[in-house]
Amino acid sequence: MLPAADAYDIDLDVDDADVERLCSVTPDDVTGADRLTFARNVFVPLTTACRYTCTYCTYYDAPGEASLLSPEEVRKRCRVGADAGCTEALFTFGDDPDERYTAIHGTLEEWGFDSIHAYLRRACEIALEEGLLPHSNPGDLTEEWMAALREVNASMGVMLETTAEVDAHSGVRRKTPGQRLNTIRAAGRRDVPFTTGILVGIGEGWRDRAESLLAIRALHERYGHVQEVIVQPVVPNDRSDFEGPDSAALRRVVAMARAGLPSEVSVQVPPNLAPAADLLDCGVDDLGGVSPVTDDYINPDYAWPAMDELRSIAATGDVPLVERLPTHARYLPDGLRPDGVAPAAAPAAHDGWIPDAVLDRIRRDDPHGRRLRGVARGDGPLPVRRGAVGDRP
Ligand code: SF4
Repeated sequence: MLPAADAYDIDLDVDDADVERLCSVTPDDVTGADRLTFARNVFVPLTTACRYTCTYCTYYDAPGEASLLSPEEVRKRCRVGADAGCTEALFTFGDDPDERYTAIHGTLEEWGFDSIHAYLRRACEIALEEGLLPHSNPGDLTEEWMAALREVNASMGVMLETTAEVDAHSGVRRKTPGQRLNTIRAAGRRDVPFTTGILVGIGEGWRDRAESLLAIRALHERYGHVQEVIVQPVVPNDRSDFEGPDSAALRRVVAMARAGLPSEVSVQVPPNLAPAADLLDCGVDDLGGVSPVTDDYINPDYAWPAMDELRSIAATGDVPLVERLPTHARYLPDGLRPDGVAPAAAPAAHDGWIPDAVLDRIRRDDPHGRRLRGVARGDGPLPVRRGAVGDRP
């Protein structure tokens, strides 16, 4: 039984023999992808409040110090991002701020919101108004909130990180593998194209890595909703000195991800944290969201590579670099997918994977709609507007 799975009624068993088999995979057992994709995003760190205190994390701020972007600040960031050619508003969070964050809750109440999730929904609407597609990473969600937020998101995500219990998830309020799996399952039940991933080097072992990948696979096989799995090495920062995996270990775990996941699920490495060019032959086919206008607020010491560097990574593997929307192409409806991309199987409870508000934004006859449709069709990477790139919101 996976840790805390019973608390969430997660009926998921990973077979020991499958774990053994996946642990034996090496880079020689997989082949490189035939293309490399990325999305252009603007980070919108809606709040730095978080109920947890994971030891590798520099993102969260303590009560009294945490920030909360106002609706006007959200709009400004989105406008700068859209003007710079981004397609995605990446809403980052801690996890549902607890009662210690009195200032955050007081401000939300002043603004007319009874929870951070209600405010997120409004922030996503602002992003759509400004010409961007929301992709929210709000930590763990109930199925009810997943359903409500689905209506204004192109896709969503949460890192599983690991199915192991590790000391890095320390403190009196520890996040558990069971609750992360519960969130990934909630996304599946509510037909949300979903991004998840594993964090490598936080105290887990090889069997844990294999088990984590196989747990993600099992949920994807049930709901068809996992669009990509991030293989993210932990990196040293101001709060911790985790060394992260060496190159050989990272190559091996990326190969395990490629071998253990269905072929339609992308394997992503963040190019500011991992030596992406050295991992292409292990099966990486996506570089995730890269921002021309904002820092990586989760890992602020690690700068995004410029567009030329992304091209040079792709050139190393002799594959084309293709810009995508936050939603992977196979979840897009007919008329918006690039030629040759087969659609994902129809979702269980909706007409399609993309909600009406997001489809309306993509189809609108304005410059943003034209930009979004161009990227959806795979006509990228589109040029970056140089004038806007240096403007930090
Ligand atoms: S990793 Fe996420 S859940 Fe953990 S402290 Fe940081 S923001 Fe919170």
